[in-house]
Amino acid sequence: MKIAFYDTKEYDRIWFEKLAVEYGHEIVFYESRFIADTAILANGCDVACLFVNDVIDEKSINMLSDMGIKAILLRCAGYDNIDLKACEGKITVMRVPSYSPTAVAEYAAALFLTLNRKTHKAYTRTREFNFKISGLMGMTLRGKTAGVVGTGKIGKVMVEILKGFGMTVIAYDPYPDTSLDVDYVTLDELLKNSDVITLHCPLSPETRYIINKNSISKMKDGVFLINTSRGGLVDTQALNDGLRSNKFTGVALDVYEEEDEYFFEDRSNDIIKDDELIKLMAYPNVLITSHQAFFTNEALEAIARTTYDNLKAFIDGAPLENEVKYQPK
Ligand code: NAD
Repeated sequence: MKIAFYDTKEYDRIWFEKLAVEYGHEIVFYESRFIADTAILANGCDVACLFVNDVIDEKSINMLSDMGIKAILLRCAGYDNIDLKACEGKITVMRVPSYSPTAVAEYAAALFLTLNRKTHKAYTRTREFNFKISGLMGMTLRGKTAGVVGTGKIGKVMVEILKGFGMTVIAYDPYPDTSLDVDYVTLDELLKNSDVITLHCPLSPETRYIINKNSISKMKDGVFLINTSRGGLVDTQALNDGLRSNKFTGVALDVYEEEDEYFFEDRSNDIIKDDELIKLMAYPNVLITSHQAFFTNEALEAIARTTYDNLKAFIDGAPLENEVKYQPK
């Protein structure tokens, strides 16, 4: 098949190019993100391979369908950026539900450790021969309480990692996993008792702004918040207000609700117009990274393999275990 591959970065090509030979496909790589204006680039291809911040709305889906595109291969887990209802009966959508839960959980832990022990600040200090340690004090993790919101594939690994630090781990998930050795509590109890809260639930209408003014007010003073899941889980304005009132010891965000304007791109010479993002950047206890929690060599290989396996199942008429469909409420 001929695949239109959007939003290409040099690291995407490593595994997708290598495995294209093995799976016998032809890929046309485009740097442009997928939006209605760029949908036309897929003309002449059979399927489109799209990513996390592409805007896959009704208009662009209709354009793809009119061009004869039969399937959308999402090379990510989340699918909150696609109008699945508009795809019904026109285009099959498949995703990569799991590529390296370990990579994301390890990264969430790395953000937490960095934020807590301020190694990012120590690094820049010592590079300038400033060997003072004032302002770099952290907290010992053993004996503290970590709250994990969402105990799916990534949340489970995070529970293990946090336990490895000797932390007491509590969790909230509307669908608890009884095989997991963790104390499930209500969301309110988790907010009230956690020294660090780490988000691992998907973005959905139910979870949008799960971290808001009200939930922040229920958290312990001096809490850490880690979000490697989806930006829309956090009401940024409420977060900025919480930071301003000194609620948080630290906040680490690998995702941001308006990230599609900025993340994965070099905007260092641009005037940033997003006031909430500018405010976040101004806090000394906020650490922002650009949606890179998944970014390991192993995860990139797994993403490419599953994407091609999805396509193979589609071509073979086999059951599509990674298909995502519109679910009416
Ligand atoms: P998963 O589907 O295995 O687990 C999600 C868990 O969240 C499930 O157990 C589900 O029951 C739970 N959940 C659903 N609604 C909830 C709610 N209201 N409150 C608490 N928990 C709720 O997903 P996963 O593979 O663990 O991934 C989690 C999220 O991580 C993804 O949805 C994606 O948004 C994000 N992610 C981010 C990156 C990154 O690079 N930053 C990479 C991969 C995934």
